Amino acid sequence: MNGKYSNTLPAMVLALGLALSGAAMGQVGETGRTYSVVAPPPCTNNKGETVRFIDSGGARAGLAAGMARRDGHGEPVVLRSNYAAAPPEFQSFIDRHECAHHQTGDVDRPHPVRNGPEHLMNESIADCIAILRLRDENGYDREAFDRIAAAIRNDMAKIGFPEISISSRTSNIENCFAKKRAPQDLIDRVLKKRGLLRQ
Ligand SMILES: [Zn+2]
Repeated sequence: MNGKYSNTLPAMVLALGLALSGAAMGQVGETGRTYSVVAPPPCTNNKGETVRFIDSGGARAGLAAGMARRDGHGEPVVLRSNYAAAPPEFQSFIDRHECAHHQTGDVDRPHPVRNGPEHLMNESIADCIAILRLRDENGYDREAFDRIAAAIRNDMAKIGFPEISISSRTSNIENCFAKKRAPQDLIDRVLKKRGLLRQ
């Protein structure tokens, strides 16, 4: 998710957040399993500002979710909610997905129409950067990827996403995982296209 206001948040990871307050609440987190919360990754936005990670909402069982935004002081942050509900690999993935919204400048751009093509593209790019970082910076192998895909599948299914949405998201991540490309290359390509690439 990214964006300053809750009514402009993107779809997929966003929906995980919606489930926390919506009717799905009773259905989520039923296993009751909790995990240790992982250390956040280094994250710097496209303007060179350090992004802070803030944990919240850990008290209730639910779906883990993240949100990239600027706080009340204009500082770039990632809000992490219910991370203890997710396996460590998925927590790490959400962190890097949200960081990617800062790295690509999504957070400071006008928000595209929810679930429109531009929005979905931003989400796919954030997923791609996240999995590339985990692969290249954290040595994630195929098994770790499989655990992330399973967690995404599980959470999206709980929320009620159709199979086509679930499989298109996981196959995008899988394709990225297999690509010979550095995460920074993808970030730079997006920034260049947006006229945001710093020299
Ligand atoms: Zn997102």
